[in-house]
Amino acid sequence: MSEHRSDQLTFQNPVTRFPEISPPEQHQPEPGLDQDLIPQTDRGQHSYRGTGRLEGRKALITGADSGIGAAVAIAFAREGADVALSYLPAEEEDAQEIKSFIEEAGRRAVLLPGDISEPGFCSELVERAVAELGGLDALVNNAGRQIAREDIAELPDEQWVDTFETNIHAIFRISQAAIPHLPAGSTIVNTTSIQAYSPSPHLLDYASTKAAINNFTKGLGQMLAPRGIRVNAVAPGPIWTPLQVSDGQPKDALPEFGKNTPLGRAGQPTELAPAYVFLTSPESSYVIGETLNVNGGTPSP
Ligand code: NAD
Ligand code: MG
Repeated sequence: MSEHRSDQLTFQNPVTRFPEISPPEQHQPEPGLDQDLIPQTDRGQHSYRGTGRLEGRKALITGADSGIGAAVAIAFAREGADVALSYLPAEEEDAQEIKSFIEEAGRRAVLLPGDISEPGFCSELVERAVAELGGLDALVNNAGRQIAREDIAELPDEQWVDTFETNIHAIFRISQAAIPHLPAGSTIVNTTSIQAYSPSPHLLDYASTKAAINNFTKGLGQMLAPRGIRVNAVAPGPIWTPLQVSDGQPKDALPEFGKNTPLGRAGQPTELAPAYVFLTSPESSYVIGETLNVNGGTPSP
């Protein structure tokens, strides 16, 4: 798929913009690497065309090494932003690749590995991003973990707690640490999911955190609007990323992944990037507390 070249602004059919994929059954230990995914994903590395919409911005993106976060990092850099990337130490290879794309775009990439499920690291992450970027005016809370369990009896308490720590407690902590640094005009974009409204039974913990993220976004959006800081969310549908093969889906579900959407195919990470760019760019000045669904056409509230 890396040979795909036509950019996101070229008139094209969304059904055939990316081929329908039938990923073979495969497994990676959590968190999973883009480099080992079959087939490879499209993070826009060969196609995303910037149009100056984030010129001079300073962004911190969590989960920026792979999948959706990597596509957002590439897009932000090509739109003119310097980017600090948060990811787990085990993902260094993926992060290095994204760093090289950001630098090819002529922007700065700051690598900040660490575990955001640890409360102390969340504030350290923000302080380091601010110090290295020389400020902060865009935060993308995108990191998340998803471990499928067929039965509630098989869902360990430890997993329940860790999913909440990573997916929603960290968003609270990172946002709280970042807000004092954010000047008027800044933005926060959180990654929720279609799972927030249409939960799969095998994702009890994960789907619950995604509903919480949607709600948190609408509350914080109102709280910060008078200060000129806008908070929004993006709700992806089925997107082909390493999350899915590191126990995010039952293995036998992989070949059919995303085929039940109205478009009939899984999404590629780069198809998410324009939503984050729009919600971060000043052009969305009157958009607050919104959840932008990017899911191949499945109805959502
Ligand atoms: P991904 O695996 O590429 O990205 C998730 C990232 O989260 C990882 O790269 C990792 O860096 C980060 N992460 C996880 N635990 C962490 C921790 N403890 N500390 C620091 N970083 C940690 O997969 P993705 O699908 O691109 O996921 C990005 C976001 O999109 C997630 O919030 C996910 O829930 C959401 N999402 C994905 C889909 C999909 O179908 N892929 C659908 C809806 C929502
Ligand atoms: Mg990753």
